[in-house]
Amino acid sequence: METISGIPASYGIAIGPAFVFGHAELEIETVSIDDPEAEWQRFEKAREESRLQLEDAYSVTLEDCGEEAAGIFNAQMMMLDDPELIGTVKERVQNELINVEAALYETAEKFACQLEAIEDEYLSARALDIRDVSSRCLRNLLGLYDSPAASLGKPSIIVAQDLTPSDTVLLEKDYVLGFCTAKGGSTSHTAILARGLGIPAVVGAGDQVGQIDQDDTLVVDGDAGEVIINPTAKSLKEFQKRQAHFLEVQAEAESISHEPAVTTDGHQVEVVANIGSEDGIEPALEAGAEGVGLLRSEFLYLERDTLPTEEEQYHSYKNIADAFGDKPVILRSLDVGGDKDIPYIDMPEEANPFLGIRAIRLCLDRPDIFKPQLRAALRAGYGNNLKLMFPMVGSVDDVLRTREVLEECRVELKDEGYDVADMMEIGIMIEIPSAAIIADQLAEVVDFFSIGTNDLSQYTMAADRTNARVATQASGFQPAVFRLIKNVIEAAHEKGKWVGLCGEMAGELLAIPILLGLGLDEFSMNPPAIPFAKRLIRSISLEEARQVANTALNLKSDHEIREYVQQAIPEVNIG
Ligand code: PEP
Ligand code: MG
Repeated sequence: METISGIPASYGIAIGPAFVFGHAELEIETVSIDDPEAEWQRFEKAREESRLQLEDAYSVTLEDCGEEAAGIFNAQMMMLDDPELIGTVKERVQNELINVEAALYETAEKFACQLEAIEDEYLSARALDIRDVSSRCLRNLLGLYDSPAASLGKPSIIVAQDLTPSDTVLLEKDYVLGFCTAKGGSTSHTAILARGLGIPAVVGAGDQVGQIDQDDTLVVDGDAGEVIINPTAKSLKEFQKRQAHFLEVQAEAESISHEPAVTTDGHQVEVVANIGSEDGIEPALEAGAEGVGLLRSEFLYLERDTLPTEEEQYHSYKNIADAFGDKPVILRSLDVGGDKDIPYIDMPEEANPFLGIRAIRLCLDRPDIFKPQLRAALRAGYGNNLKLMFPMVGSVDDVLRTREVLEECRVELKDEGYDVADMMEIGIMIEIPSAAIIADQLAEVVDFFSIGTNDLSQYTMAADRTNARVATQASGFQPAVFRLIKNVIEAAHEKGKWVGLCGEMAGELLAIPILLGLGLDEFSMNPPAIPFAKRLIRSISLEEARQVANTALNLKSDHEIREYVQQAIPEVNIG
């Protein structure tokens, strides 16, 4: 028996034989050509085939694993049209008179290596995407059957260096019990896919994964981030017990997922979903969401060449808001900059984009982008429960300037004869420490807050959220972050305003009792987390949660807080 450690990426315990997943390496030769135009036409055909395959992959993944996992294929479709990548391939074919396979392979490899050199978890995942897309295109160019060794034949635990999105589409999902990969972090493709499928996963377990042989018996402990190779009979028995407990909890959670989130002493909170497009509606409703606490509007702006029109935005927002009927849907205005770039809006290079013209700062600078979105939102919110929220607010002035533009849009629309939502609630995200500190002042100029802990923790702790090496520092469980959250909730409640939280923490079982005890009114999370969150909230009392919050806020580290909650609230231990 041997235990290897990695990053816990998806809840639960999996037990079964290892299926060691290997890639069939492509062999690419450089060949001289004499007709670059004909060569280019071959490439165009392969790109078109790849695009159609990616569209299929998107649909299949959406059905099996939800919106977040499927979104990866949208990003890959964009790479197929990336002007820098495609432009370089074309130049090389034309200038060097070499076959397109060699030009593509070498260019994609160069781009991927550049991204990997930056040592950033997010960019490493993009490097994997570039290799995945180019390999798909190469297979199409070479007429190779697009299937690596993915035929499982029996229920198995997938073991790999890393899995590309294309690998995962081909897997027979009914036979996949769990995942163990050497590379990747908690936001890698494998992690996203495993959470979408609701199966246990440990990622980033390093070179030791190489010790696992085909058909070794494995235990994947997705809570502790450990993989046990050939466990002893005694240890296997213990894990079987824990697995049975997890399955019981899962069944129980699913059976109450459409019930309200009420504590045992009668305190009710809202449990809503984070979604990123119209494709997110179904999974959210099925999971038991009582509305949408964060609709990331970036989906309409990314993966295209021009700005979405007001009309296009109007229809999209309206479809989503209408689908939820009288349940609330909170539309967040455009949040780009930072690690999200829109090539066609010509944003100046910045040395520190996370501290630059991001989100509301960009929108206030660019009324040509902002006003169509506000107009679309005001129109779409007529006759339903759409609310509007602004990201990256750092001062009262930011809110006042934003409200001015919003009012301007409202007057214009009325003059033009449109129906507009007059009573639409207006909120802001609290994700910059300055906003958390002056929450009392901000509560006077908005209707609600939604705390964005993904950013609030990175800005509070000066720890880049995309850098795996400072993941502990960037965690929302840092005492400093909890103290800011407490300040925000108290300040808002004093002014009669409600507070939600839409960072990843809202769905983390260890955080929920503390947030509940601090008085949070709304928890917004990825749909698969909803049943578990509701089960937990329904099994504890507000009084208990308050005591936990009081104690937790006086502890001195992320680690101490997690350990304490684990002991104080047994219901958080689900595996
Ligand atoms: C956050 O910062 O917590 C948040 C929900 O927004 P995003 O992750 O889109 O920046
Ligand atoms: Mg944010």
